[in-house]
Amino acid sequence: MKNHVILLAGGKGSRMNASVNKVLLELCGKAVIRRSAEAFISSADDMVIVCRENEEKTIRNLISLSPLPFPVHFTSGGNTRQESVLNGIKALTDVCDEDIILIHDAARCLVDYDLISRVIESVKLYGSGVPGIPASSTYKICDSDRKVLYTPDRSGLYEIQTPQGFSAGIFIPAALKAADTGIVFTDDAGILEHFHIPVRVVRGSSQNIKLTEPEDISRAVSIIKGEKKNMRVGMGYDVHRLAEGRKLILCGVEIPYHLGLLGHSDADVALHALMDAMLGACALGDIGKHFPDTSDSYKDISSVLLLEKTNKLIEAAGYKVFNTDITIVAQKPKLLPFIPQMLEVVSGKLDIPVSSVNIKATTTENLGFEGRMEGISAYAVCTVVER
Ligand code: MG
Repeated sequence: MKNHVILLAGGKGSRMNASVNKVLLELCGKAVIRRSAEAFISSADDMVIVCRENEEKTIRNLISLSPLPFPVHFTSGGNTRQESVLNGIKALTDVCDEDIILIHDAARCLVDYDLISRVIESVKLYGSGVPGIPASSTYKICDSDRKVLYTPDRSGLYEIQTPQGFSAGIFIPAALKAADTGIVFTDDAGILEHFHIPVRVVRGSSQNIKLTEPEDISRAVSIIKGEKKNMRVGMGYDVHRLAEGRKLILCGVEIPYHLGLLGHSDADVALHALMDAMLGACALGDIGKHFPDTSDSYKDISSVLLLEKTNKLIEAAGYKVFNTDITIVAQKPKLLPFIPQMLEVVSGKLDIPVSSVNIKATTTENLGFEGRMEGISAYAVCTVVER
């Protein structure tokens, strides 16, 4: 089973009048057409680029700047989108009924792998998959004088994007038959709908914008730059001695045990490692600098409060935690049952999803100070991104 991509990069006819073909524009150092083709690097087995004849050479040059891992063929656009798609189908080679056809507007160059995968999965299950975003505005159906005829129910209304994916055995015969009807279809799924073949909508993406208006270019630039937000990494390590008459608090959770950790604050070794990782990622020193153990204000303080303060410090420096991974090294007690609670505390205080936090516990096979149960240590790594 192969995935064939038809990339629509410009037809003739009405669109011929446009002064510049948007797909040739450069966006943050890379041409739109190149970005669109690259989006399919992990999904396509081959690709047909449908373009204006007089732009084929330019597009070939842009595409060949660095080789794509699949063969790329070229064919010329038609007078309508439908004709262009048909030309694309005719330019495909070695197509079996089980294969998947993905038809994509090259002007949607910010499409991502996840969206393409959702489309492909839907085609495998249902024979079709078109990405859509639930309508968030109210739409009106008007007549040619802009007199409102009615307001459609918004709950079932989707704004449709590309790539639109279809099983080749379903779509190709329908597309060929549609060409004989004389009806102009504005999207590919419309052809199947005309022949009463079911079409499935999959979740689209608000970033999968189509470059149409000049402001779309600046929006695309900000989306691309957003993807490239600076990311930094930090690490933290801490040790506290186990002692009698102290509470054992790890990641803000009190663990029932006859020993606890000794320290100026509540000695939450895991949160201390995390805070050092956060400060380290932002080049802000360490917790000793910000919360000195010589200060009475931090005596017996809950480290959860210090975590909140640390989070404010890194926010003030322009960063936000992206994810963290914490390892607690303790021979005893068993910490596994408390990890879900710890995850809630850390993700809650940092205001990040639980899926962005990992906490694990390990023993040292009775080796070293942790193994002799003299103390507990913790390691943390943390990435931060610009806010
Ligand atoms: Mg400490």
